[in-house]
Order: sequence, then C-alpha cells, then structure tokens
Amino acid sequence: MAENLGDRCRPTDDRRDDLRWREDVQDAARRWAVDPRLIRPCVPQIRAIEKSQRNQMLYVLATEWRAMGVAEQRALELALRWNDELALAMSPREVKGIVKSAFKGDKRYGCDTHLAPYCIGKERCPYFAAHVGTKEPLRGRATMDEFRDLGWRRGYVTRLEADVYEGIISLERIRHVGEGGRVITSMRQLGRLIDASPASASVALRVLKELSLIEFQPGRPRATGLPPKGCTVVRTIPIPAPPRVDPSIVRRLRRRIRDDNRLRRESARAVAVSVEPSVPGFS
Ligand SMILES: [Zn+2]
Repeated sequence: MAENLGDRCRPTDDRRDDLRWREDVQDAARRWAVDPRLIRPCVPQIRAIEKSQRNQMLYVLATEWRAMGVAEQRALELALRWNDELALAMSPREVKGIVKSAFKGDKRYGCDTHLAPYCIGKERCPYFAAHVGTKEPLRGRATMDEFRDLGWRRGYVTRLEADVYEGIISLERIRHVGEGGRVITSMRQLGRLIDASPASASVALRVLKELSLIEFQPGRPRATGLPPKGCTVVRTIPIPAPPRVDPSIVRRLRRRIRDDNRLRRESARAVAVSVEPSVPGFS
C-alpha cells in the first residue's frame, strides 16, 4: 500500500522538468531583480556555453535583459558575472561591446533559433501562455496614427499621457505580444522609455485607464519592502473614441488622480521607513 502511494506521488519526468525550470526562473528573478513573469524559461538556461557560442548567446541574453527593463549599466554587471562563470571567459572589453550593441536596437530572438536548444517548448511554456498566446495581433488598427485621428490629442490627453500610450505600444513591440497584448512593466521602465519620472508615468496610466483606453493593474512598488511586482497594462482594441464630455471634466479627473497618487506615495514611504527595501528593481 505504502509503496504504491510513493509511486503515485513521484512526479513524472515532465513535472520534474517543470519544477526545475520554475526554480531556475525564480532564482534568475532574484539575481537580476526583475519580475519572474518577464523571464522566458529558456533564458536562465543560457550558461556554461562553449567558446564558439559564448559571444552569440551573451548577445541573446542581453537583448532579453533589455526587454525585461534591466538598465544597461546593470546588464553589463550581470554580463561580466555571467562571463566569469564560463570555462573560457571573454575579455571584459568584448563583454562590454556585446552588451552595448544588444541595447542599441529592439532586436529579440524567438525560441526557434538560438534559444531552441534551451527551450521548454510552447505547449509547456508559462511565458508563452501569458504573453504570446493570449491575443491575435490586429495589425494597423491600433496604432498611434489611429489614436491621433480619433482626436484624443484635442484636449483629452496631455502630451505626457500620449507619450505613455506610445510607450505601451513600443513595449508591445519589444515583448512581441501583438497589439493590445498584455504588457508587464514598471513605472520606472515606462518612465525611462519616455523620459518622465515614475510618478508622472503612474498618474498618466491612471488617467488612461479612467478614459477606458487601457486596463491597468498596479504592481507592488519597491518602497513597500516586499519583493517588487510589475504592473499589468492592456490596451483597449480597437482604440475607443474620446467620450463626449467637456474636456474640463477630464482636467478635474486628472487633478484628483494626481492628489490620490501623492497620498499613496507618502503612505508607501511611511511604511518603507520601518521596512528597509531590499530588492532593487520595480517601482
Ligand atoms: Zn523558449
């Protein structure tokens, strides 16, 4: 009786593999200080690379760090550490060059090319299910041109809010989720993308949500002292037309959101005084 139970409780090979993948993703999330949901399971498996592969695979890894919102300077530190663990390490100069060029464009690799030997397969990949398999891209119907043509810039949204909206579109592209796909990001990353502070990005997102342009679930900021979590943003597709209300109503709404945000930040700071933040990353 007892040995039968033991047999049944033993995980199958697939299950055991899934557990190992998940642990590696969690471990990488800690080391890289990013939300684990942004990590494709194949990516932490890029290690102990042989000499002929190391340059190419570090490039792939660095493009992934960029897509996760890791800053370039930090990516360089991670790359140097990764390089140190190779049996045959590259020169720091070579590592620097690779990271630099990976951060230049928005190039990213699918799981069917360089990552194929490390990939778990899309049937079992939680990243694929969450980010890629969700929505069919609707090409050309949800662009910035469409947004402008609908008249959103005529008194409804500010320059900054339009920039944030455009930032979401670029994240959709960088993450390959398709138009209106689910984007997980941090205020910090979004802010950096459009050259605004995390606090202004946060206000802009809340305004866009009130105007039904996006769905938005806040994450957990660093200041709370708990592990940080990215926020989730999904654009409404097709893009809705502006509401038929006087723009002054939108201005009042914006003021209210700004005040709310200030209060929220102040109380988060009050909490952070008692709990030291430990993980750098999302805010
Ligand atoms: Zn993969």
